Amino acid sequence: MKTVSIIIPCYNEEASLPHMQAAITTIINQHTQYQWQVLLINDGSKDNTLSVIKSIHSRDSRFGYVSLSRNFGKEAAMLAGFDYAQGDCVVIMDADLQHPPSVIPQMLEQWEAGFDDVYARRTDRGREPLLRRIFTLAYYRLLQLVSRIDVLQNVGDFRLLDHKCIEALRQLRESQRYTKGMYCWIGFKKKEILFEQGSRLEGHSSFNFWSLLRLSIEGVTSYTTLPLRISTVLGLLSSLCAFVYLIYILCCTLLYGDPVRGYPTIMVVMLFLGGAQLLSLGIIGEYLGRIFHESKQRPVYLVAEHEEPVNPEVAS
Ligand code: UDP
Ligand code: MG
Repeated sequence: MKTVSIIIPCYNEEASLPHMQAAITTIINQHTQYQWQVLLINDGSKDNTLSVIKSIHSRDSRFGYVSLSRNFGKEAAMLAGFDYAQGDCVVIMDADLQHPPSVIPQMLEQWEAGFDDVYARRTDRGREPLLRRIFTLAYYRLLQLVSRIDVLQNVGDFRLLDHKCIEALRQLRESQRYTKGMYCWIGFKKKEILFEQGSRLEGHSSFNFWSLLRLSIEGVTSYTTLPLRISTVLGLLSSLCAFVYLIYILCCTLLYGDPVRGYPTIMVVMLFLGGAQLLSLGIIGEYLGRIFHESKQRPVYLVAEHEEPVNPEVAS
């Protein structure tokens, strides 16, 4: 019998978890041809998420958990899930039921048909604020433009991965993670299915404008060094212009003498070049920062407590 693991990162989800458990239990009870293991990753929640998770585990041993020592972020929590999941395939979903468990059987069908990475694409983004939708669209366009890797639009972390993919993802241990890009990077046979994303059931989203901006910069700097190249090209172009201008000034001075003029020109050139230099330094700094973080080679997450999911049939 094949085992299906479901991993669910949870951060302050005490209100959503009971609904989530009910919805998942319905699905897994209907599909007894598989063995199910649900792994809840408590990402250092500040509310009662951990005790809710423990009570779920004590009522239904198919739900196990990994509790991280503090909040490491969703990307790190997912890596913890990849490391601890034991199934022949792994489904990743959010705790807030924005990813409906009713889509899972459809994913399993595609997996049985031989696909390794069955990802769900949103047909609409639920009741997300208009501004966020616009930013998301613009961001995906930009990412597509600058990176050599196709990061798919409107595709999140809701997907089923074969254990081959999970083994591949386990090897990617960078501490500043952008998992959406990793799914594309690892390759394997992919299949798209569509789903309608609901709105968050309880609580509120942990991602605000700044954390999304940080994730976007992470996305760009993880997958392309194009910004560095752009600053090189800009530097070259402005040096070339400066050289032409230098010849022009030399000629003017030789031909017409040296009347002291040109204050506005000097200011404009200085300010422009100063700005361009600061921008380039910032871009270099962004990459240098990444090297700094990665060179420490710290573990991506630390586990405080952990309880494996157990299948009753196997236990008996
Ligand atoms: N999450 C997490 N760690 C964090 C932030 C979020 O594990 O630091 C989880 C959260 O519990 C949820 C999922 O990641 O299961 C998606 O988070 P959320 O619903 O807040 O994001 P959104 O749906 O708005 O993108
Ligand atoms: Mg959500």
